[in-house]
Amino acid sequence: MEDKGEGRGYIVSYQGLEELFCRLKEGWRVVAPKLKEGVILYSEVESLRELPFGHRNREMPGFYCLERAEGYFTYTHPVNSLKAFLHPSELVLMRVRTSDGCLEFEVCNSEGNFCFFDVRACDLFALEVLDRVFVHKNPHPDSYYRKLREGAFVVAVNCAYATSTCFCTTMGTGPEVKEGYDLLITELREGFLLEAGSERGRALLESLGNKKEAGEEHFLQKRERLREAEAIMERHFEIGGLPDRLYGRMDSQYWKHIEKRCLACTSCTQSCPTCFCFDILERNDLKLKESERIRVWDSCFSPAFATVHRYNIRQSVHSRYRQWLMHKFAYWMDQFDLFGCVGCGRCITWCPVGIDIRQEIKKVLGSE
Ligand code: SF4
Ligand code: SF4
Repeated sequence: MEDKGEGRGYIVSYQGLEELFCRLKEGWRVVAPKLKEGVILYSEVESLRELPFGHRNREMPGFYCLERAEGYFTYTHPVNSLKAFLHPSELVLMRVRTSDGCLEFEVCNSEGNFCFFDVRACDLFALEVLDRVFVHKNPHPDSYYRKLREGAFVVAVNCAYATSTCFCTTMGTGPEVKEGYDLLITELREGFLLEAGSERGRALLESLGNKKEAGEEHFLQKRERLREAEAIMERHFEIGGLPDRLYGRMDSQYWKHIEKRCLACTSCTQSCPTCFCFDILERNDLKLKESERIRVWDSCFSPAFATVHRYNIRQSVHSRYRQWLMHKFAYWMDQFDLFGCVGCGRCITWCPVGIDIRQEIKKVLGSE
């Protein structure tokens, strides 16, 4: 593993962060959290001032609001995830045009050059999950995803706060950012601790003007902040042996309870940073001169998702919910050697009827 120079870092002021941001803007399309339409969303941003500093997201099952708070990185992850940029909800793969009686084919390449700024531990882990799904554990690596992901510069931020729907401590993905970043920011009382996680991150960090070497007290403060975030979160279930324990409940009667509550609206799969299922569609213009082949998000909650030879093998809503939960916490481990859930809690917040996956797991495990 690359030497990240642990225990080494620099303290910068807000002006130092601005200098870093301007340097990133010179070479990258910077994507960061931003206040938009009353929520925090990952968006392309032009300046550091666009970040939602001093805002705090409060979340509960089926509930989201923003309030004011003291400090800068006072919120957790945005409503959407980096999936929106690396595996967009609609991606044109190919165009076909008619011209002088001939067909012209254009293969569309994905363009990125992204810097993901202010990425929290759960979302960084979600990138590792998507990397395995699309590239590392995929017998046919996805060139679209790979092109967008390769070279993306990642600036991570350690969380000092958690909402009631966060459960990264249960899933072992946070709140501490451990790897997969180029630069890591931790907000401290007297400024921001910057640490490098890659050679290019270190080179950028060394080139910054106004900084001072971080001392032991700064790393102690970092631990203290992480402990504060950890203390907010409860451990909901034990992940050791979870796939086998769930496999043992495949025929449990409990699954049927979900039929009365779940609307099969797909909101959970759309908001999830790791749900990757897609469909490929053809879109023709009305003059029949041009056709596009597009890739769009799909969902295991859609009635057509499990339709094979015109027969839907998952007609009941509870069978679709079981498929979703079992994929996240059991089958995914068989396929990709990790869980498909990073404990971000988005599916809990954005479920219109407040179904809490943590509670469902506990109930399924406790059922006959
Ligand atoms: S669990 Fe909630 S968000 Fe997911 S499909 Fe059912 S009602 Fe929609
Ligand atoms: S299943 Fe829910 S909590 Fe887990 S990663 Fe997806 S949205 Fe986040």
